[in-house]
Amino acid sequence: MLVDCHAHLEHRDFERDLDAVIAHMRKTGVVCVNTGANLEANRKALAITAKYPDILKTALGLSPHDANRENLEENLAFIRKNAGKICAIGEIGLDFHYFKKEEEREKQRTAFIAQLDLAEEFDLPAVIHTREAEAEVIALLAERKQKNAVLHCFLQPQLLDAAMKAGCLVSLPTLKNKARVTIIERVQDGRVLCETDSPYLWRGERNEPANVAEVYGEMERIRGAAFAGKAAETARNLFGW
Ligand SMILES: [Zn+2]
Repeated sequence: MLVDCHAHLEHRDFERDLDAVIAHMRKTGVVCVNTGANLEANRKALAITAKYPDILKTALGLSPHDANRENLEENLAFIRKNAGKICAIGEIGLDFHYFKKEEEREKQRTAFIAQLDLAEEFDLPAVIHTREAEAEVIALLAERKQKNAVLHCFLQPQLLDAAMKAGCLVSLPTLKNKARVTIIERVQDGRVLCETDSPYLWRGERNEPANVAEVYGEMERIRGAAFAGKAAETARNLFGW
Protein backbone atom coordinates (compact mmCIF):
# COMPACT_ATOMS: atom_id res chain seq x y z
CA MET A 1 0.00 0.00 0.00
CA LEU A 2 1.40 3.36 -1.08
CA VAL A 3 0.69 6.60 0.78
CA ASP A 4 0.12 9.98 -0.81
CA CYS A 5 1.13 12.17 2.15
CA HIS A 6 -0.41 15.38 0.85
CA ALA A 7 -3.44 16.08 -1.35
CA HIS A 8 -6.38 18.47 -1.38
CA LEU A 9 -9.44 16.44 -2.34
CA GLU A 10 -11.80 19.18 -1.17
CA HIS A 11 -10.55 21.32 -4.08
CA ARG A 12 -13.29 22.22 -6.59
CA ASP A 13 -11.36 20.36 -9.30
CA PHE A 14 -12.55 17.13 -7.66
CA GLU A 15 -16.20 18.10 -7.26
CA ARG A 16 -17.44 16.33 -10.35
CA ASP A 17 -15.66 12.97 -10.26
CA LEU A 18 -14.34 12.27 -6.79
CA ASP A 19 -15.80 8.74 -6.87
CA ALA A 20 -13.70 7.96 -9.95
CA VAL A 21 -10.59 9.46 -8.34
CA ILE A 22 -11.14 7.28 -5.26
CA ALA A 23 -11.75 4.20 -7.44
CA HIS A 24 -8.46 4.88 -9.21
CA MET A 25 -6.71 5.05 -5.82
CA ARG A 26 -8.16 1.67 -4.84
CA LYS A 27 -7.02 0.13 -8.11
CA THR A 28 -3.50 1.51 -7.65
CA GLY A 29 -3.31 0.62 -3.94
CA VAL A 30 -2.93 4.22 -2.77
CA VAL A 31 -4.24 5.83 0.42
CA CYS A 32 -3.97 9.53 1.11
CA VAL A 33 -3.74 12.30 3.68
CA ASN A 34 -6.55 14.65 2.69
CA THR A 35 -5.29 18.07 3.71
CA GLY A 36 -7.14 21.26 4.63
CA ALA A 37 -5.83 24.82 4.68
CA ASN A 38 -8.56 27.05 6.16
CA LEU A 39 -11.88 26.75 7.95
CA GLU A 40 -13.96 25.94 4.87
CA ALA A 41 -11.42 23.54 3.36
CA ASN A 42 -10.97 21.86 6.74
CA ARG A 43 -14.71 21.30 7.09
CA LYS A 44 -14.94 19.90 3.58
CA ALA A 45 -11.86 17.70 4.04
CA LEU A 46 -13.40 16.10 7.14
CA ALA A 47 -16.70 15.48 5.33
CA ILE A 48 -14.95 13.86 2.36
CA THR A 49 -12.77 11.66 4.54
CA ALA A 50 -15.90 10.51 6.41
CA LYS A 51 -17.25 9.19 3.09
CA TYR A 52 -14.13 7.13 2.34
CA PRO A 53 -12.68 6.34 5.79
CA ASP A 54 -10.84 3.21 4.64
CA ILE A 55 -8.70 5.09 2.16
CA LEU A 56 -8.45 8.68 3.45
CA LYS A 57 -7.24 10.38 6.61
CA THR A 58 -7.45 14.09 7.35
CA ALA A 59 -4.92 16.78 8.19
CA LEU A 60 -6.33 20.07 9.49
CA GLY A 61 -4.54 23.38 9.60
CA LEU A 62 -4.55 27.09 8.87
CA SER A 63 -2.13 27.66 5.99
CA PRO A 64 0.19 30.65 5.73
CA HIS A 65 -1.87 31.81 2.74
CA ASP A 66 -4.96 32.01 4.91
CA ALA A 67 -3.35 33.20 8.14
CA ASN A 68 -3.99 36.83 7.25
CA ARG A 69 -7.60 36.32 6.14
CA GLU A 70 -8.97 34.15 8.89
CA ASN A 71 -9.38 34.25 12.63
CA LEU A 72 -6.68 32.15 14.28
CA GLU A 73 -8.61 31.40 17.46
CA GLU A 74 -11.60 30.13 15.50
CA ASN A 75 -9.33 27.84 13.46
CA LEU A 76 -7.50 26.54 16.52
CA ALA A 77 -10.82 25.79 18.23
CA PHE A 78 -12.03 23.87 15.17
CA ILE A 79 -8.85 21.79 14.97
CA ARG A 80 -8.94 21.13 18.71
CA LYS A 81 -12.56 20.00 18.55
CA ASN A 82 -11.71 17.53 15.77
CA ALA A 83 -8.29 16.46 17.00
CA GLY A 84 -9.50 12.92 17.65
CA LYS A 85 -10.43 12.47 13.99
CA ILE A 86 -7.22 13.59 12.34
CA CYS A 87 -3.78 12.17 11.54
CA ALA A 88 -1.81 15.43 11.31
CA ILE A 89 -1.83 19.20 11.70
CA GLY A 90 -1.42 20.74 8.25
CA GLU A 91 -0.91 22.45 6.16
CA ILE A 92 0.79 25.11 8.21
CA GLY A 93 3.97 27.11 7.75
CA LEU A 94 5.50 30.29 6.39
CA ASP A 95 5.27 31.63 2.84
CA PHE A 96 7.17 34.84 2.19
CA HIS A 97 6.86 34.62 -1.59
CA TYR A 98 3.45 36.27 -1.81
CA PHE A 99 3.60 38.03 1.54
CA LYS A 100 6.20 40.78 1.68
CA LYS A 101 4.93 42.92 4.55
CA GLU A 102 6.42 42.31 7.95
CA GLU A 103 2.99 42.47 9.63
CA GLU A 104 1.71 39.72 7.29
CA ARG A 105 4.72 37.55 8.03
CA GLU A 106 4.31 38.13 11.76
CA LYS A 107 0.71 36.87 11.54
CA GLN A 108 1.94 33.78 9.71
CA ARG A 109 4.53 33.17 12.43
CA THR A 110 1.93 33.45 15.18
CA ALA A 111 -0.40 30.98 13.42
CA PHE A 112 2.46 28.61 12.61
CA ILE A 113 3.82 28.48 16.16
CA ALA A 114 0.36 28.08 17.72
CA GLN A 115 -0.26 25.09 15.46
CA LEU A 116 3.16 23.54 16.12
CA ASP A 117 2.16 23.73 19.79
CA LEU A 118 -1.11 22.01 18.93
CA ALA A 119 0.73 19.23 17.07
CA GLU A 120 2.86 18.65 20.18
CA GLU A 121 -0.11 18.75 22.50
CA PHE A 122 -1.95 16.06 20.52
CA ASP A 123 1.21 14.19 19.55
CA LEU A 124 0.49 14.59 15.83
CA PRO A 125 2.81 15.13 12.87
CA ALA A 126 3.00 18.69 11.53
CA VAL A 127 2.81 19.04 7.74
CA ILE A 128 4.63 22.19 6.75
CA HIS A 129 4.54 24.41 3.68
CA THR A 130 7.38 26.87 3.27
CA ARG A 131 8.41 29.11 0.42
CA GLU A 132 11.22 31.65 0.62
CA ALA A 133 11.23 31.09 4.38
CA GLU A 134 12.84 27.65 4.44
CA ALA A 135 15.87 28.54 6.56
CA GLU A 136 13.74 30.25 9.20
CA VAL A 137 11.33 27.31 9.33
CA ILE A 138 14.07 24.71 9.67
CA ALA A 139 15.86 26.75 12.37
CA LEU A 140 12.61 27.09 14.31
CA LEU A 141 11.86 23.35 14.09
CA ALA A 142 15.40 22.55 15.22
CA GLU A 143 15.18 24.93 18.17
CA ARG A 144 11.82 23.50 19.22
CA LYS A 145 12.98 19.91 18.65
CA GLN A 146 9.60 19.48 16.93
CA LYS A 147 8.72 15.81 16.56
CA ASN A 148 7.46 14.42 13.24
CA ALA A 149 7.73 17.66 11.29
CA VAL A 150 7.20 17.02 7.57
CA LEU A 151 8.52 19.53 5.04
CA HIS A 152 6.02 19.06 2.23
CA CYS A 153 6.93 19.53 -1.46
CA PHE A 154 10.61 19.58 -0.51
CA LEU A 155 12.88 20.33 -3.50
CA GLN A 156 15.90 22.05 -1.98
CA PRO A 157 18.92 19.73 -1.87
CA GLN A 158 21.05 22.53 -0.39
CA LEU A 159 18.82 22.47 2.71
CA LEU A 160 18.61 18.70 3.06
CA ASP A 161 21.40 18.42 5.63
CA ALA A 162 19.88 21.17 7.78
CA ALA A 163 16.45 19.52 7.54
CA MET A 164 17.87 16.13 8.56
CA LYS A 165 19.80 17.70 11.43
CA ALA A 166 16.62 19.42 12.62
CA GLY A 167 14.96 15.99 12.78
CA CYS A 168 12.51 16.71 9.94
CA LEU A 169 11.07 14.37 7.36
CA VAL A 170 10.95 15.57 3.77
CA SER A 171 8.13 14.83 1.34
CA LEU A 172 8.86 14.68 -2.37
CA PRO A 173 6.28 15.72 -4.97
CA THR A 174 5.29 14.43 -8.40
CA LEU A 175 7.68 16.77 -10.18
CA LYS A 176 10.39 15.31 -12.35
CA ASN A 177 13.53 17.37 -11.88
CA LYS A 178 17.17 17.29 -10.92
CA ALA A 179 16.61 18.56 -7.39
CA ARG A 180 14.35 15.61 -6.64
CA VAL A 181 16.91 13.15 -8.02
CA THR A 182 19.65 14.68 -5.87
CA ILE A 183 17.50 14.48 -2.75
CA ILE A 184 16.59 10.84 -3.42
CA GLU A 185 20.27 10.01 -3.87
CA ARG A 186 21.27 11.65 -0.59
CA VAL A 187 18.34 11.45 1.83
CA GLN A 188 18.43 9.15 4.87
CA ASP A 189 16.40 5.97 4.79
CA GLY A 190 13.21 6.40 6.79
CA ARG A 191 13.19 10.20 6.60
CA VAL A 192 11.54 10.67 3.23
CA LEU A 193 7.90 10.55 2.10
CA CYS A 194 6.00 10.88 -1.20
CA GLU A 195 3.12 13.15 -2.15
CA THR A 196 1.13 14.55 -5.06
CA ASP A 197 -0.18 17.87 -3.67
CA SER A 198 -3.23 17.12 -5.85
CA PRO A 199 -4.75 18.82 -7.75
CA TYR A 200 -1.43 20.62 -8.33
CA LEU A 201 1.97 19.60 -9.72
CA TRP A 202 1.18 17.23 -12.56
CA ARG A 203 2.44 18.23 -16.01
CA GLY A 204 -0.11 21.00 -16.45
CA GLU A 205 -3.04 18.64 -15.81
CA ARG A 206 -5.04 17.91 -12.71
CA ASN A 207 -3.08 15.73 -10.35
CA GLU A 208 -4.65 12.90 -8.33
CA PRO A 209 -3.42 10.70 -5.45
CA ALA A 210 -2.95 7.58 -7.63
CA ASN A 211 -0.12 9.44 -9.40
CA VAL A 212 2.00 9.21 -6.23
CA ALA A 213 3.17 5.86 -7.63
CA GLU A 214 5.41 7.92 -9.93
CA VAL A 215 7.45 9.22 -6.98
CA TYR A 216 7.84 5.75 -5.43
CA GLY A 217 8.87 4.50 -8.88
CA GLU A 218 11.59 7.12 -9.14
CA MET A 219 12.87 6.14 -5.69
CA GLU A 220 12.93 2.51 -6.69
CA ARG A 221 14.85 3.32 -9.86
CA ILE A 222 17.49 5.33 -7.98
CA ARG A 223 17.79 3.60 -4.58
CA GLY A 224 16.06 0.25 -5.07
CA ALA A 225 12.79 -1.42 -4.05
CA ALA A 226 13.66 -1.71 -0.35
CA PHE A 227 14.24 2.04 -0.11
CA ALA A 228 10.93 2.86 -1.81
CA GLY A 229 9.18 0.30 0.40
CA LYS A 230 10.66 1.96 3.47
CA ALA A 231 9.28 5.33 2.35
CA ALA A 232 5.76 3.86 2.19
CA GLU A 233 6.25 2.13 5.56
CA THR A 234 7.49 5.38 7.14
CA ALA A 235 4.34 7.14 5.91
CA ARG A 236 2.05 4.37 7.19
CA ASN A 237 3.66 4.49 10.61
CA LEU A 238 3.65 8.29 10.77
CA PHE A 239 -0.01 8.74 9.85
CA GLY A 240 -1.31 5.59 11.52
CA TRP A 241 -2.29 3.27 8.69
ZN1 LIG B 1 -0.78 21.59 -0.22
